[in-house]
Formats: sequence, structure tokens, C-alpha cells
Amino acid sequence: MDIPAPDRLVRLAVDLVNTRTLSPEQLTSPAAVREFLVEHGESDPITIDDAGLEAVRAVREQLRPVFRAEPAEAARVLNGLLEENAVRPYLSDHDGSPWHLHVAKPGATWAEWLAATTALGLASFVAAHGSKALGVCAAVDCERVFVNAAEKRPRRFCTPRCASRTRVASYRARQA
Ligand SMILES: [Zn+2]
Ligand SMILES: [Zn+2]
Repeated sequence: MDIPAPDRLVRLAVDLVNTRTLSPEQLTSPAAVREFLVEHGESDPITIDDAGLEAVRAVREQLRPVFRAEPAEAARVLNGLLEENAVRPYLSDHDGSPWHLHVAKPGATWAEWLAATTALGLASFVAAHGSKALGVCAAVDCERVFVNAAEKRPRRFCTPRCASRTRVASYRARQA
């Protein structure tokens, strides 16, 4: 439950929101949350029950609007998540690990840990790149969120696949 490197925090936030878009819910069980955390570098033992699953989904839905919000609103949501879930950062060497930073309170639930760390990651990202660097895919049937650190090259789609699907669809629409 450490603070992963900044780019990993941003990816954690993006991937968490993208566990439910227009495609089916991926966090269907506590085991699915565990799998998500392991895939993102957390290690066992990871214990989550049904209430924990609901809490993680709730954090996800609090993060979602940040990706399409105006700057002041994005800041309000992220500050709220930090206020509720983060503590003053502190160094820890628990379990014989090298000294490292924690921003969630000792004994935080996974939902609290996710809220604190993803809000910190997105807040740092927005501070560096502006909230326009967060986005929601413009393809009609997608809704996945993404980040774009290249300010000079605005981005509208989550993947090249969505961009080309949209180009093909609009070309066909023009031909029809
Ligand atoms: Zn730790
Ligand atoms: Zn997309």
C-alpha cells in the first residue's frame, strides 16, 4: 500500500475508471478487485469483502467526472477525495521494506487507499499538465477515459482504434 511512482498512480486512476464504461462492469466481485490491484503492482495478502467492493466502485464513480470537468470542478473533486482519504505523507519502513512514502492512513481500506493515491496522482498530473490533459474518448460507443501529457497535441480518443473507427464511420456517413 505504498505510493507507486507518479506515472503508475495516473495509470491506476485511468484503469480504475475504465473498469466500467459502456462495456460491461469488470469489478464484478471482490476477487476481481483483488485481481485489479495485483495487476497494478500490489501484493497479497489483499482482503476485500462485498462492502469493500462497493466502496471501491464508489471511489471509481467519484473519480470519473474529473476527466470531463472544468478545472475548478476537477480541483474541487480531487481536493475532496484527498481531504477525506489522504493523510499528511509519511515515511515508513514497515515489514523490512526500504523507507518509502505513504499518503493513506495506517490501516486504510483498499477503497481509502485507492481514493488517496489516485487523487494524489491525478492532482499532481493536473498541476503539471492542466485539467485539459484529462479526457473522455469521443467515439460514440466508448466512454473510456485517458490522460494526455502532450499539451500541444490535443487528443480526443482513448486509442488509435477508436480514432480510426470514428473516421471510418464519418466517411461512410458522408458517402451515404
Ligand atoms: Zn508501504
Ligand atoms: Zn475509445
